[in-house]
Amino acid sequence: MESLNMNTRQWLETLVAFDTTSRNSNLELITTVRDSLQQQGVASWLAHNKDKTKANLFATLPATAGPHAGSTEGGIVLSGHTDVVPVDGQKWDTDPFKLTEKDGALYARGSCDMKGFIATALALVPEYLAMPRVKPIHLAFSFDEEIGCIGAPVMLEEIVKRGIKVDGCVVGEPTSMNVVVAHKGINVFACKVHGKSAHSSLTPQGCNAIEHAARLICAIRDFADGYKANGPYDQFFDVPFSTMTTNQIRGGIAVNTIPELCEFTYEFRNLPGMSVADIQAQIDKYIAEVLLPKMRTEFPDARVEIDNFAGSPALEAVEQAAITELVRALTGDRQTRKVAYGTEAGLFQQIGIPTIVCGPGDIGNAHKPNEFVTLAQMEHCEQFLRKLGKSLQAA
Ligand SMILES: [Zn+2]
Repeated sequence: MESLNMNTRQWLETLVAFDTTSRNSNLELITTVRDSLQQQGVASWLAHNKDKTKANLFATLPATAGPHAGSTEGGIVLSGHTDVVPVDGQKWDTDPFKLTEKDGALYARGSCDMKGFIATALALVPEYLAMPRVKPIHLAFSFDEEIGCIGAPVMLEEIVKRGIKVDGCVVGEPTSMNVVVAHKGINVFACKVHGKSAHSSLTPQGCNAIEHAARLICAIRDFADGYKANGPYDQFFDVPFSTMTTNQIRGGIAVNTIPELCEFTYEFRNLPGMSVADIQAQIDKYIAEVLLPKMRTEFPDARVEIDNFAGSPALEAVEQAAITELVRALTGDRQTRKVAYGTEAGLFQQIGIPTIVCGPGDIGNAHKPNEFVTLAQMEHCEQFLRKLGKSLQAA
């Protein structure tokens, strides 16, 4: 077995040392990457969040050979998120922000999900620059993926605005270097049910927000049961139907006060090809036709607010797309794999960039204490990304 490129290990060590838990700024990491690229003559641009505490980075290594040498048009995007999930309350055997090698694996928060992929891509930049490529390679590193793919859309908007055209994208989330062609969409909603408070001895004077929220939650559960019973189904998924569930709730201020407000969050995870708008329309219809009329007999100003505050679209890769064929050829993985977790791949696909998911590490190790990626997976990724660069050379 070839040993891991020293550069890759160094990059991973550098990247995991930044505590880029989603609640923190990722700017130190981003400027370190930008400066390194700049020193190698690679230009990049940043796309910030509103308060400029976080940024996405997009860099292009132009074509180096052929009639279009210097061109930034076409080519492949290597995409990864720079944020990680918290280590709060987790029992780690090593410092989660210090790369530690043990028994053929590299341990640290983000080693698997997904700084391992980013480190590999960055370590290969010198090789990519030296290859006689007729197409560019682009790097796209985002923020706030772990809290609902909030960062990447800002970068994708800028990609569209700048008229950047690329041929395909590889999102390097941990797939054990297999080719993942589909995942469900994630849609997260905050719901506020506004009723009217009253002393609880005087129930007819109030409109109980918790009770009405409960009706809505049960309706959401009924819709979910409908998808389970009637489909549509896709047997390639471990949960082969779309799911809906309420996961947080808050309401009420005292044992003897009718609550005027109840807030809850629900999510649905749709199969690719299912319309998110259609799923939400059922809920809206229930609110408009059943819930609100009932509430307004008690309180004419009763209302329900819904905010779709996070989410990412489902991915269904195109088998015939050049990027799918290329990654299948380079990894030798021909199996149809569809996964339950969401990624930014659906967002790239949504702006017309054919995308697949393939990266080092086992998703089962992500988000856990003692997260790790094996050296074998990292070497596999390195070889894959090197071959991917070579595939852009002149025939
Ligand atoms: Zn991830």
